[in-house]
Amino acid sequence: MSQLSPMMQQYHEAKEASGDALLLFRMGDFYELFYDDAKDAGRLLGITVTSRDKDKGAKAVPMAGFPHHQLDAYLAKILRCGRRAAVCEQMDAPNGKAAGEPKGIVRREVTRIVSAGTVTDDELLDPQASNYLVAVAYDGQAPKGDARPLVGLAWIDVSTGEFTATGIDERRLADELSRLDAAECLVAEGSDALLPPEASDRSAVTRRPAWSFGVQMAMESLRKHFGTQSLEGFGFDSTMHHDALALSAAGAILGYLHETQKSSLAHVDRLRPFQADSALQIDAATWRSLEVTHTLRDGRRDGALLGVIDRTVTGAGARRLADWLRRPLTSVASISQRQGAVAELVENPSLATTVREELRGVYDLQRLVARATTGRASPRDLASVGRTLGALPRIKAKLAGRQSERLARLEERIDLCADLREQLTAALVDDCPLSPREGGFLREGYSAELDEYRQLMAGGKQWMASYQAKIAAESDIPSIKVGFNKVFGYYLEVTHAHTGKVPADFIRKQTLKNAERYITPELKEYEEKVLSAEDRAFALEYDLFLQLREATAEAGKRLLATAEALAEIDVLASLAELARSRGYCRPEVVEEPVLDIEAGRHPVLDLTEPEGTFVPNGVSCCAAKWEVGSGKSEGAASDLNPPTSDFPLPTSVLLLTGPNMAGKSTYIRQTALITLMAQIGSFVPATRAVVGVADRLFARVGASDDVSRGQSTFMVEMTETARILNTATPRSLVILDEIGRGTSTYDGLSLAWAIVEHLHDVVGCRTLFATHYHELTQLEERLPGVGNLSVAVREHEGRVVFLHQIVPGPADKSYGIHVAQLAGVPRSVNERAEAILADLEQAQSERQPTTIAAKASGGLQMTLFETAEHPLLEEIRALDIDRLAPMDAFERLHAWRQRL
Ligand code: ADP
Repeated sequence: MSQLSPMMQQYHEAKEASGDALLLFRMGDFYELFYDDAKDAGRLLGITVTSRDKDKGAKAVPMAGFPHHQLDAYLAKILRCGRRAAVCEQMDAPNGKAAGEPKGIVRREVTRIVSAGTVTDDELLDPQASNYLVAVAYDGQAPKGDARPLVGLAWIDVSTGEFTATGIDERRLADELSRLDAAECLVAEGSDALLPPEASDRSAVTRRPAWSFGVQMAMESLRKHFGTQSLEGFGFDSTMHHDALALSAAGAILGYLHETQKSSLAHVDRLRPFQADSALQIDAATWRSLEVTHTLRDGRRDGALLGVIDRTVTGAGARRLADWLRRPLTSVASISQRQGAVAELVENPSLATTVREELRGVYDLQRLVARATTGRASPRDLASVGRTLGALPRIKAKLAGRQSERLARLEERIDLCADLREQLTAALVDDCPLSPREGGFLREGYSAELDEYRQLMAGGKQWMASYQAKIAAESDIPSIKVGFNKVFGYYLEVTHAHTGKVPADFIRKQTLKNAERYITPELKEYEEKVLSAEDRAFALEYDLFLQLREATAEAGKRLLATAEALAEIDVLASLAELARSRGYCRPEVVEEPVLDIEAGRHPVLDLTEPEGTFVPNGVSCCAAKWEVGSGKSEGAASDLNPPTSDFPLPTSVLLLTGPNMAGKSTYIRQTALITLMAQIGSFVPATRAVVGVADRLFARVGASDDVSRGQSTFMVEMTETARILNTATPRSLVILDEIGRGTSTYDGLSLAWAIVEHLHDVVGCRTLFATHYHELTQLEERLPGVGNLSVAVREHEGRVVFLHQIVPGPADKSYGIHVAQLAGVPRSVNERAEAILADLEQAQSERQPTTIAAKASGGLQMTLFETAEHPLLEEIRALDIDRLAPMDAFERLHAWRQRL
């Protein structure tokens, strides 16, 4: 080390402090990387690797770098490659070195370590998406008895300060992680293998020392950070196991941030507990297959539900809407509060329009405040805060006197922060620079002292101009010019042609190809004045800027509360705009697990299909059993008011049959999406809807290949189905599409059959089951809560026309061959298929009914393809009721019941 140059010594110290992060070492106008970092950078960032001290041969140090103004672009690349970067800056004062510094060495410091989960720079963030850093705390103790293993889960969006923690059943971890879609995931060394694959697929995993997850340490650092005696005020009780785990995950996050951010985290002002049960539970598979935030095929946002319903006009609004979709509500009261606000905005379109118009002009207050409190806000950021505050009085006035409780409350929460607004608008010019070091961003009149320096600087320029004219006249060198460079400041430049006329008191400083440069004592004297005014102006302006930033940070709490209110207003206005423009209705959201939708549409297809071509369809079903409130009360389909739609009595299981491409999955997905939308408080694409709050939403749609994880499609499908059967409750909504496809027909059919039976008999929840197993339609006759639906299809001149209309009753025929024909399969193949089909149908009608189905109780063999009759029926038919004594009848009934 001692043989290294002082600068390289600095480098090694900085490298030591930044672990495995790529160290970006500021040298003048460049960021340089050395040694292995340089080689990695060459490979990952595509920059040229050269070497320092080339003459040292093998000992030469590999080096690579890029210009300082490209920092953001390279940080983005580094993060995209899953790496972290430590930024080591030159710590000199804005204009020149700090006082007392030894000449030659600039002080340098690692000012931050940037990782995917900790970025706050606008250029590196998607304005419409939250950027989460999560921590997973695994339980050190083995659970006792029946207790399920718990994990602590905490997440933070450093760019806004939103910080949440919870203790949850380990089996739900993957679901939560897939919804959070975190950029980075912290886990204790040694526990990383326990992380569900969802975490490592989507996020950069950062291993942390196990001690950083210690509960005691976590509580201490959380208390210290929030300045509180205990954490109970936030709703955490550390004597409860799950809360202790939640806190240990939160503590790990805080520790990591303190280590990497090296700045205040004052915008992280509270830790929110998250009650998993207060939200509609959606598992990872359902989340993916319903395409709520991203499409399945290419992960796009714009083809997903979020993309089509998002009419927000601010980034914070878009993030809040995504948040609502991630956690739909289950409380009827909270849902109707949101609905009330949306309704008021729908009914008062001019209010919605003006509020949206105003919101378009506001900046991302959450992220701005975060940057102000972490000391990263630029003059332009502060000006944006000022401008946003400027829009508040108008927004608040618009919302004053609103009827709906929610809008009224949001209006109250808007804090005008008039003091700060005045200060910022008085201080900052309209077009502020990005860096405070450039200066020139404070308005004239804001600081008398600054104005004085500026006058001196301006006066200096004037003086230079008149001095140049004076010298030109005196020396008779008209072309003489005053110039400036960093090496010797102001000088006079004379072309060689005139050097003979140069006065004696000129001191020659430099000879150029065609000119000489001189200084004079007079020039130097004035230079001193101007430069020191410039220095002082820069320093003062920077100081005043820091004060403004501090004032903004101090108002952080009020600004954040306001930012949250604005985000929510944006979401509500966006939902109103959507409802109005797409003709949605306000669903009646009720406790009873019913579903009664009239002329429902698929929210995405309704928009993407050509206008007016989407065929609306109703749905009506109702759980077979449920509990309302605390008291158990058995409900049944027939207890409810008869539905108003065209369907017969509501049933709990709707079986949907019909050819491929008829619209089956569209229909069942639209039902799930309408429920989801209703539970975030949105209006829904239907003419009328009654939606009973669901506690869990399950969608098993299509066979998603998961071969990459070594599981067969069928295995994945069955694992997911098992989970539905084991965890669905009577209040859940289950949609299943083509279950049992991944195995042989009989296997698949039997499984599908048994699954429907289980959902009907045991779970009793609202179920929509789309299938191509026509045989399942027999279940309608066997089970009272099963109803058949099909998609209307018309055959026209030997061709199939899909009407996309859902009608009661089973589909009557398989249209597979016709569909093949539509798809362009050669005519000869189709004709051959038709012949084979005819043969098969013939053979089947001659065969004995197949008896592969499950055995019903009492030894009854159920056939799948033909309904077997129960022997009791024959006895009942044979009975002569007219001659039957009442007592005898009673005894017979009793005996029959025994045999059932
Ligand atoms: P299935 O599940 O029966 O194979 P899909 O639900 O995938 O069929 O629908 C196939 C296509 O039919 C969809 O991509 C869409 O273009 C169209 N479609 C489905 N339902 C409707 C509808 N209600 N109105 C108009 N077009 C529809």
